[in-house]
Amino acid sequence: MITFKKARELQEYLDQHRRKNEDIGFVPTMGALHDGHLSLLKTSLKENKLSVCSIFVNPAQFNDPTDFKKYPSSIDDDIFKLETNGCDILFLPTVGEIYPGGFNVKRNYDLGYLDTILEGEFRPGHFQGVCMAVEKLLQIVQPNKLYLGQKDYQQCMIVARLIQLMNLQEKINVRICPILREKDGLAMSSRNMRLNNEERAKAPALYETLIFLRQNIRNGSLRDIKKEATERLQKRGFKTDYVEIANAKTLKPINEWDARTNIVGLIAAHIDNVRLIDNMMLN
Ligand code: AMP
Repeated sequence: MITFKKARELQEYLDQHRRKNEDIGFVPTMGALHDGHLSLLKTSLKENKLSVCSIFVNPAQFNDPTDFKKYPSSIDDDIFKLETNGCDILFLPTVGEIYPGGFNVKRNYDLGYLDTILEGEFRPGHFQGVCMAVEKLLQIVQPNKLYLGQKDYQQCMIVARLIQLMNLQEKINVRICPILREKDGLAMSSRNMRLNNEERAKAPALYETLIFLRQNIRNGSLRDIKKEATERLQKRGFKTDYVEIANAKTLKPINEWDARTNIVGLIAAHIDNVRLIDNMMLN
């Protein structure tokens, strides 16, 4: 694996390969890598001649500075995992490399309603910050295929929108990969490292609530089932930001279901100081 810290050097290297028509797959991450991240890398390795993984904890996307400070970091371990899983290239930029003019110069991406619902409502400015980093990373790497996890369902839609805004939809193929879970159903996440034993034992409740929704969903009003799911989580000690059922294609919340529209259940909930998200297709 070759590690690049400078965008220019990475670009020069990738250009040589592009000239030979080699496909480039790209897996952007914020590090503290787990098997979920590695599953994206494995898919990229299968589908491309070259796979680039980036590790960049993007300060612009943290609406809560404490969350940024506490974001787990395990760079030596990450490098070992990438090496042993066959990653070709690691891009490890500094904040200055991605934001030479600083990251407080806010951009305004036209993300429409996606920017203000669900994660956008509870983390104002989050997706604008995501777009700042992803735009820059895509300009540097110029991948043929981009690998994203369904774990961040709304983020996948935001990035697809960003690619449209950048007019790159013909050039970049977005691949959405399934959520990898622990044995007890907890979706793998870098933030899980911050759970103590007691919190970790409670954490599968998000998954269990999604299963409850999937098993009990009926056509007609969804008000009661959303309420019951929320109460189940609260009874187990969670503070819920949202328990929502949405149109799987548009992410618009659904209150009356026709039993045909594809729907997704989405949850964001805090267990003490750790905020977890999860989602599941419900039909
Ligand atoms: P992050 O490092 O949290 O920014 O995640 C980097 C990429 O890995 C994103 O596209 C995530 O959606 C994806 N990812 C995170 N957790 C999982 C998981 N449990 N299963 C599959 N992909 C994941």
